[in-house]
Amino acid sequence: MVKSRLVESELTTPLTDSGGVVVSSNMSDEEIVVRITQDLKSIRDALHELTPLQSRWNGSVRLDTSIEKNANALFQSDGTIVVAPRLIYRKARWRTLIHEMIHSLGVPVSLEDYNEEKGWEEGFVEYAQRQLRPMVMARLGVLYDEEFIQQLEPTWLLQPYVEAVETIVAAIGENGLEICWEILQQPLKKRAAFLILKHRAQARILSKQSADLRTKILSGTMSKEDQRLWNEEEAS
Ligand SMILES: [Zn+2]
Repeated sequence: MVKSRLVESELTTPLTDSGGVVVSSNMSDEEIVVRITQDLKSIRDALHELTPLQSRWNGSVRLDTSIEKNANALFQSDGTIVVAPRLIYRKARWRTLIHEMIHSLGVPVSLEDYNEEKGWEEGFVEYAQRQLRPMVMARLGVLYDEEFIQQLEPTWLLQPYVEAVETIVAAIGENGLEICWEILQQPLKKRAAFLILKHRAQARILSKQSADLRTKILSGTMSKEDQRLWNEEEAS
């Protein structure tokens, strides 16, 4: 695998590695690819019904054990979804596959931009995943362990980004998913400016704060004072 071709390299495995192995039988690589491709097609079709966006997934799945150290799956810039074979045995695989498919709904993101502002991609993708998962799974008619996944998700390495998006959504006071779909259609480097221009009340506060507030917001380190100002402006 050529690393530079990857759009992202998130750590979907929690640090505790309690991913929940549910299947102990050995599937061949071919069987794993067939099964995951089927699941991804179902997820894509459900997302096409539930969102206004179209997937850029090219329909192919590639297994790669070399990503296992850092991730369970990746959406690659050529439209391929790369999967660590072990994912098939994990109870959390549904959330991971939905997450990767939501990446495919957004505009292409270069690795360079991603490394600089991954929060503006990962935070919104994962926020949307958590909001949509029950609806996607209901359409798939698959029984899965929602409680297990809810306990697992706060341990996700990129959790601060999701919390930052929740803060932003609460401050704006509009439908969070609609904000996600708007954001994912903007080039990564323009997402912060887009949000600020669209929500000028919050932007005034942002301009009074330190120049790197937008970075702080999406690195999950916004101070309590910043949050108070953000919320106060929204209420005024
Ligand atoms: Zn991701």
